[in-house]
Order: sequence, then C-alpha cells, then structure tokens
Amino acid sequence: MRITLFTLLLLGFMYPAHAQTYQFTRNDTLRGTVTPERSWWDLNFYRLDVRFNPADSSIKGSNQVFYRVLKPAQVLQIDLQRAMTITRVEQDGKPLSCRQDGDAYFIELTKPQVANRMESITVYYEGKPRVARNAPWDGGFVFSKDKAGQPYIATACQGLGASSWWPNKDHPYDEPDSMNINITVPQPLMDVSNGRLRRVVDNPDHTRTFEWAVVNPINNYGVNLNVANYSHWSDTYQGLKGPLALNFYVLPEHLEAAKKQFQQVPLMLKAFEYWFGPYPFYEDGYKLEEVPYLGMEHQSSVTYGNGFKNGYLGRDLSGTGWGSKWDFIIVHESGHEWFANSITNYDVADMWIHESFTNYSESLFIEYYHGKEAAAAYIIGCRKLIRNDKPVVGTYNVNHSGSGDMYYKGGSLLHTIRQIVNNDERWHEMLLGLNKTFYHKTVTGAQVEAFVGQSLGLNLTKVFDQYLRDIRVPTLVYRMKDRQLEYRWEDCVAGFDMPVKVKLGETDTLLKPTTNWQQLKVKNATSLSVDPNFYVKSKVLTVK
Ligand SMILES: [Zn+2]
Repeated sequence: MRITLFTLLLLGFMYPAHAQTYQFTRNDTLRGTVTPERSWWDLNFYRLDVRFNPADSSIKGSNQVFYRVLKPAQVLQIDLQRAMTITRVEQDGKPLSCRQDGDAYFIELTKPQVANRMESITVYYEGKPRVARNAPWDGGFVFSKDKAGQPYIATACQGLGASSWWPNKDHPYDEPDSMNINITVPQPLMDVSNGRLRRVVDNPDHTRTFEWAVVNPINNYGVNLNVANYSHWSDTYQGLKGPLALNFYVLPEHLEAAKKQFQQVPLMLKAFEYWFGPYPFYEDGYKLEEVPYLGMEHQSSVTYGNGFKNGYLGRDLSGTGWGSKWDFIIVHESGHEWFANSITNYDVADMWIHESFTNYSESLFIEYYHGKEAAAAYIIGCRKLIRNDKPVVGTYNVNHSGSGDMYYKGGSLLHTIRQIVNNDERWHEMLLGLNKTFYHKTVTGAQVEAFVGQSLGLNLTKVFDQYLRDIRVPTLVYRMKDRQLEYRWEDCVAGFDMPVKVKLGETDTLLKPTTNWQQLKVKNATSLSVDPNFYVKSKVLTVK
C-alpha cells in the first residue's frame, strides 16, 4: 500500500499543491543515494531492542548493526529522523563520535575496518516518534484504543522511512539477512512484530519483552510493531513447501468477525502460490494483525484494517462487481509478500515493481477463482482510476517514487503485455521465473524489464518506455478507404511498435503498427475496434 491520488481523494484529502514544484533537498539525497558511507559495508543482521511506553508515547532503545566490510573505510552512515536522537554509538564497547547532517549520522570508526571482516556497532537512541497524520499514506505511529480502553498502537512508515522510529541503513538496496526485534511494553499489552515469537520475558517492572526473530532478509519499512491487548489464534496451511504457520491477532471485540473474514487467507495463499510459486517466508510464518489504519505489507506480519468487509473499505474499485468478492487488504497486502518483500525495489523510484505486480495479482486472484474474463473485466474497470499525471517511474537517488498510476496503469501494462504474448503458459512461466530469479533480492526496474522481455521472447523496450516513463496513452490512428486500412501509432514514444489486436468487421486481426503509416487490404470490413484488453486509445480519421 502506498499513496495514490485516488485514495487521497477517497479519504477527502487534497493533493498537496507544492508537490509539482518540490525541489529535492540535501536530506533527500542523503536518504535516497547509496552514499560512499553506505556502500563500503554490507548489512548482515539487526538486533533491535525497543522499550515502548504508551503512556507518554516515548521509545528508548538500541540497534546493534552487524555488517561485513566490503572495502576498508572509516565513516559509516546511519539514519535516524530528527524527532528521535542518537545518544551513544559504540564499537566493541568503545564510544564513537558522530556528526549529524539532517536525518543522517556519520559515525567515525576508530578500529581499522578490514575487508571481509564481520563487525558491529551499537546505536543507542530515544525520543517520541512522529505520530502518523494519515496512516498508512502519511505514516508514523498510530495511536488508538480498543473497546475496553486499552492502548491499541501500530507503526506504518512506508515512504516516511523506518528511520522515523529506529536507527538503520534507511535505503532499500541493502537488507540484513536476518533480524531480531525485541519490544518491551507494559503488561497486559502484547507486541506483534515480524517473524516468529521466540520468547516472552516478564520483567520486574511490570513490563514484558516480546522477542521476535526474522530469519530471512527483510526491508526496513516492513519492520513493524503492533501493540494491543490482542486475541490470538493460529492455524496451519499445507502449502507448496509444506506446513506454513498462520497466526492471527485481532482486538477481542472483533474475534468472531475476523475468524470468518480471515478464512480468505488460505484462498489467497492457494491462488498466489499457483501463480507466483511458494510463499516466500515459510520459516517466518504468515501473520495477519488488526491495526488502526487500512493496512500494510509488513513482511510476514501483514496488517489489516479493512473492517472485516469485502472490497476496499466495502467498495469495489473496479465498479464491475468482481472487486466485491474478496477482501482487498488481505489479497493486496499479502500479494506484496512476493512483490515488495521477496522482490524488493533497489530504489523507490522503481516502486512500480511492488505496486504494479501486486495490483495485477488482484486480477490473478480473481482469475484463479472466477476465470479469465472476470479478471480482465476487473483490470479494465480499474482503468478509470488512472490519472496519467506523472510518469510511473520516479526520480532516482532522492527517495522519490513516481505517480500513483503505478497501481492501475501498472496492472493494465502487465495485462496488455500478456495480450501481446498471447500464450498463458508462457506468461505463467514468466511470473514463476521472476519470483525464482529475484527471490529475496533487491532489483532495479531495468532488471525486471529485461527479465520480462527475455522470458517472453519479446523486445518490450518501447512498451515499458511508453507506460512507465511517459504519461501519454498510445493512440491507434486509422482510416479506411476503398477496402484499404491505413494505420499508425500516435501520442507515443519515438519508435513505439507495440502489436495490437483489433476486430476488422467480425475478424480478429493482429496489427503491427509503427509510428509510420502502414496499409492493409481489407476484404469486407467497414469497421475496426481495438481489443479492450489493450490499454490504448483509438481514433478514426474520416476520409473524403
Ligand atoms: Zn500496495
């Protein structure tokens, strides 16, 4: 889940006027670039210890950052946003000095850093993390209370960044291979974070520490804490890699509704394992937790606030009826386990890797249970949400993602490419191959584009350029005269040459237009209509 103009409008918010003229700052560059102070070390493990006090919304803790030295250097960048403060940094028990530059800290290491060696630093910090203005889009900590008046608190920091509440290397290109998350909260509250609960420690001061272990690479924004007086139940799903532990956490007052609605989880897993291959985090299990905001793809710890209703807050986004047959948050946010958590963008400018494939996964869920036509209707129905306001790809190296069109236009792009391939088996193999090749990896958009093209045996360069980096919808312009059809692409990138299926009269025909006029003899046809599965426009020129 991420900001879309549509969702903003849905929630009654105005698009910020400054967004069009925003100038990137030094802080954006420090956050969004693989700086020299980041590139010399490779993340291996985080040990995050956080004491959270709901009474005054403060947190205090430490993160021990384990890393391997790739090449010797003595300055290391750690990010922590200014609402929080780093109080001390140590290596081998010795204090280190550091220089703060906006939300970045440059730590001066005194011990020589030798290539290939494993090292760690421990960063101690405290403060009151930012309260979310409108989670999950404008995120932070979300404070609420359950029916009994108990604290009900969760984090959602996609976009904003994990460095809004814990110190880390806050860039998506590098992930730790595993992570421990130890959260201390007052009794009787519990914390649900990522991975598996290893231990609960009762402390003498009436707090408890919940020790969660993640044994797979995890992206920063996927790390979350969810604190409430949760009711819990568990189940097992027999999946492609054997038994998968399912754990569910909801407020006591919603237990009954949740037990019913969450029956869609095995349905989701069945469909997505079919289309994409095994759930990517068997070792960490799958969890679904109720939270006081709409939802987020936290890794192995998907959060849910869709009101135990089908659709998107009860609505069908496509207007076709097919979006009302399933719970949008269960399906969409879980789809991100494959696209966002397993396959992660190297730079958020390529966040379409997360959202376009996950939007498309919604249609594949429909296809699995209701067939191809229903899935196509859903994709086509969602096109009314496309704005073509800005390119789908954002600006690299400044922590900037592109247009909210990365959802519906991205989904339509994939659906359109599938029409070009016109071979469902090959298409399915591409989706499986993508998940196998880029399993647990951070990848660039260019890598994904190349893989899709190679796997399908197509040159899709111009197609990706058109839909990801240009805001125009290509238009098939044609005229018919004396049993001759003339046609070409307009409103498109130079050299655009996407094939398109049309009906000439009653006959299905594959045209291969370019930006130059081409001719085709047509026997009896007097009409042309473009296959609506292709996301293009058409325009007929009248011939005198
Ligand atoms: Zn999403």
